Amino acid sequence: MTIYNFSAGPAVLPREVLQQAREELLDWHGSGMSVMEMSHRGKEFTGIAAAAEADLRELMGIPPSYKVLFLQGGAHLQFAMVPLNLLRGKPSADYVNTGEWSKKAIGEARKFGGVNVVATGADRNFSYAPAFETWQCDKGAAYLHYTPNETIGGVEFNWVPETGAVPLVADMSSNILSRRIEVSKYGLIYAGAQKNIGPAGLTVVIVREDLLGQVLPGTPTMLDYKIHADNGSMYNTPPTYGIYIAGLVFQWLKRNGGVAQAERTNIAKARLLYDAIDASNGFYNCPVAKSDRSRMNVSFTLKNPALDEGFLRQAEARGLLQLKGHRSVGGMRASIYNAMPLAGVQALVGFINEFARQRG
Ligand SMILES: *Cc1c(COP(=O)(O)O)cnc(C)c1O
Repeated sequence: MTIYNFSAGPAVLPREVLQQAREELLDWHGSGMSVMEMSHRGKEFTGIAAAAEADLRELMGIPPSYKVLFLQGGAHLQFAMVPLNLLRGKPSADYVNTGEWSKKAIGEARKFGGVNVVATGADRNFSYAPAFETWQCDKGAAYLHYTPNETIGGVEFNWVPETGAVPLVADMSSNILSRRIEVSKYGLIYAGAQKNIGPAGLTVVIVREDLLGQVLPGTPTMLDYKIHADNGSMYNTPPTYGIYIAGLVFQWLKRNGGVAQAERTNIAKARLLYDAIDASNGFYNCPVAKSDRSRMNVSFTLKNPALDEGFLRQAEARGLLQLKGHRSVGGMRASIYNAMPLAGVQALVGFINEFARQRG
C-alpha cells in the first residue's frame, strides 16, 4: 500500500531525495564519510552549502542585494530576531493578524517594541485575509509583518501588500517555493524548513542587505543577522545535514520545472481537493473564504463531527495519514506541500467521495 503523509510539518519529502540521501548516507561522493560527519569548514561541506544557496537563489530569483542565511531555531526564533534586528531605533512595527502564527509573532514582537495590529481576521474567526484597503498602516513603521500562509487555519494571501518604503516581512514557513514570488517586494522572508524545504532544524532567512547591522542594544551575537551574513552562515556550526537535504530538495525542484511548475501542480492539487469538498452537498465544509483558501493546507470539517473518528480511522487504513486538524481548530487538515504528488491528492479525493457516499 502506498502511504501518503498529509502532515502539516515536519512533512513529506520527495521520495527521490530520500533515496539519494540513502545512497549517499555512508559515503558522500567518494569522501569516505557521511555528510553528518564532515567539518562544516571543509571543502566538501562548504561546496554543499554554496550549491544549496546558489540553487535557492536561482529557484526564487533572489537578487544579489539579498543575503541568504541558513539558521536554526525555527520560525519561532524569527518572531524575536525580526524585531531585534529590524526595529532599527523606530518605536513600532505593523503586524497583520490572520491566525495562530500571526498571533505568536505579534506576542513575541511586543517584548521588544510597539506593535500596531493594522488588520485582523478575528471578526470572522480567522477565515479570510483582510482586504488591503482596510489596513491601518503606519508610514513610520519599522516594518510590516504578515503571514502569507496561515498553516493552521488554511488561509493564504493571493496578493502581496504594497507597503512602499516600509520593509515587508513575511513568515513563509508553509508556502515558500510553492508559488512564484518577487523577492524584491520583501525586506525579509523567513521559513522553517520542515514544510516545503527539508528536515526540521534548519531555518532559511532571505534579507535585504541594507536592513542589517542595526540590532537593538543587548542583542545576543547569535541573534544578529549581520553576524551570520558576514560569516556565510558559519559563525557557529550550522545544521549541516539539514542544509544538505535542503540542497537535494532544491535540485529536485530544478529538475522538475522549478517553482513555476511546482505552482501549476499545486494549483491543480488544491483545486481537486476543494472542488470535492464543495461538491459534497455540505457533508464536508471548508470554512475559509474562497479567494483566500490555502494551496498548501486544506482545512475542512465534517457536518457531523461524530464521524470524525471513523473518517480518520478509515483514511489511515487506506494509507492516508495525518489528516487530523490542529487541536485549536478541530476537523481535518490535508497539507499538500510541493512534495505531495498529485496521486496522493487523487487518492484522498477518492476516499472523501467514497466516505461521503457511505455515510451521507
Ligand atoms: C510551522 C510554522 C511556524 C512554526 O515553526 P517552528 O519551526 O516550529 O518554529 C511558524 N509559522 C508558520 C507559518 C508555520 O507554518
